[in-house]
Amino acid sequence: MELANRVLSLTPSTTLAITAKAKELKEQGEDVIGLGAGEPDFNTPQHILDAAVTSMNEGFTKYTPSAGLPALKQAIIKKFETDQGLTYKPAEIIVGNGAKHVLYTLFQVLLNDGDEVIIPTPYWVSYPEQVKLAGGVPVYIEGKEENQFKITPKQLAQAVTNKTKAVIINSPSNPTGVLYTEEELRELGKVCLEKDILIVSDEIYEKLVYGGAKHVSIAQLSPELKAQTIIINGVSKSHSMTGWRIGYAAGEEKIIKAMTNLASHSTSNPTTTAQYAAIAAYNGTQEPVEVMRKAFEERLEIIYKQLTAIPGFTCVKPQGAFYLYPNVKAAAEMTGYQNVDDFASALLVEAKVAVIPGSGFGTPDNIRLSYATSLDLLEKAVARMKEFVEAKQ
Ligand code: PLP
Repeated sequence: MELANRVLSLTPSTTLAITAKAKELKEQGEDVIGLGAGEPDFNTPQHILDAAVTSMNEGFTKYTPSAGLPALKQAIIKKFETDQGLTYKPAEIIVGNGAKHVLYTLFQVLLNDGDEVIIPTPYWVSYPEQVKLAGGVPVYIEGKEENQFKITPKQLAQAVTNKTKAVIINSPSNPTGVLYTEEELRELGKVCLEKDILIVSDEIYEKLVYGGAKHVSIAQLSPELKAQTIIINGVSKSHSMTGWRIGYAAGEEKIIKAMTNLASHSTSNPTTTAQYAAIAAYNGTQEPVEVMRKAFEERLEIIYKQLTAIPGFTCVKPQGAFYLYPNVKAAAEMTGYQNVDDFASALLVEAKVAVIPGSGFGTPDNIRLSYATSLDLLEKAVARMKEFVEAKQ
């Protein structure tokens, strides 16, 4: 049977592919340390689990409104008010099956064939594929490593054409962990307003920021920018709830309504139990979020030093998320590998450390390491990589 054209060039998520390979090696008895994970290594906090169980026992196991339970929308609205001083109406919020699927739905309702979406590199692997699946065209602009992987207003302005519909801003970023400052967002925002392009602000790592840095949403900088922005967020990373699949979008009512119509024919609603869990995540204590944040920060400080002591590794210091994104081109060259993809494969097979090659994120000289694993294992993994490079140098 012939497949549809739209999936012919679709590649599986690099992150999930490497994670699966590492798992396979582990199952064969290999002592592999996986640094590929895109999820916190903490359990979902107990009060959230309890709320989910209670909701099931009370019989809340049926369909909900397509855009999510009113109580969950209220919890999200309260979160926006508390954290960002942003005010949204329920009709400006849609809850979906994870931020990933919310983004998918957004591009489906936003893009006509040939519409362009500006995506800074390095990017989260799913953005280009989702844009293409909606008939759109990804237009890449390079977040230069010497500029901490951040794009400039000038680059953004130059990339805009009469086909540009939107730009994606992901701060803190996956894979780099880089965080845009308020001033930088203000300048990028000016270009978006001038050129009248929608800002898709993916803030899924909002809660994970370090070194006293503060997350700022571009939508909170002015009413005009709020009107021009769709915020994407969710509980996956903040509350260690990746498997529950709850994410949401906030923005212009017309867009949210179209997304809700589409969801009503595709998902019906996000899983009911998971929505009750998410209500507890937002309305309950936020202490576990801070416990996780602190643990990540502590690991970052230790591991960053060790990682940058490996010959041929240089790394922009992240201010958020839970990834390190070193440039290892020099290390690959000095150990005799043609490119970083081959170097990363050798790290998995020989050093028994699973990392994600940067080619999947649009920057082939880097690798992504997740520090969402115990400090013990992280130190062991970095020591293995150092030994591997030093032995082959
Ligand atoms: N956006 C970014 C930048 C991510 O890294 C991820 C998850 O890896 C998502 C969105 C999707 O999160 P969710 O688990 O809510 O689908």
